[in-house]
Order: sequence, then C-alpha cells, then structure tokens
Amino acid sequence: MESLVDDRARPARERVDVSGVGSLAAAERRIREAFRDSSLPAVTVMVAGRPVGVVTRRSLRAAEGTAGEVGAGEHLDPLGDSARYRLLVFTCRSCDVTAHRVHYDPRDLPRCAHGRMELRR
Ligand SMILES: [Zn+2]
Repeated sequence: MESLVDDRARPARERVDVSGVGSLAAAERRIREAFRDSSLPAVTVMVAGRPVGVVTRRSLRAAEGTAGEVGAGEHLDPLGDSARYRLLVFTCRSCDVTAHRVHYDPRDLPRCAHGRMELRR
C-alpha cells in the first residue's frame, strides 16, 4: 500500500504531521485515522513542518479500490496518472540529513553539503 496524495487538491486546513513515524505504512495509518471520525474532506500531510501533499477522501478511496493489485494498479487508476505519490525519503551517505519528497524527479533530487542525496529503499 502506498501513501496517497491528491496533487490537484488545494491545501487543507486540517493537518496531519507524519514526522518521525517508522514507516510508510505507519504514516498511512495516521492519515486514515484523521479521516475516521469526521467529515473533513482533506488533510495536508506535514513532514518536519513542511507540507508534502494533500490527501483527500477521494484519493483515499482510490487507494482502497486498487489495494492488493500490486504492480498492476498504476494504469487502473480511474482518476488519472497523477493522483498517487509515495512519500519518498532521501538520505546522505556521509551525514544524517534526510529529506522528503512526494515526487521523484531525477532532475531535482534533494541535496546536502555532500551533493545529491539518495533515495532510501
Ligand atoms: Zn550529507
């Protein structure tokens, strides 16, 4: 399962901070909990005080609709190819700096004093 971000959604007033969670699955659980007990339409996901994306009820449902179709889900997304991004974590080999992205853009990788950072698998 991947963390869901709707990149067409406007920033939401409600925020969920996923800084420090141990895994992507844990981050997703925290996001789902935010939707459980309210009628809020969307939340802005924060990491280390920075917004990394907006999750909407719609994008959350889309995630559930394709759950389990690992590897085959990408082109089945009824909302188009841009609705879904993973929360990516980048690290440096030489220091303990980390950075987060919701897009993987090879032309714009996060950098630290040691140069380009690497995607943590
Ligand atoms: Zn570094």
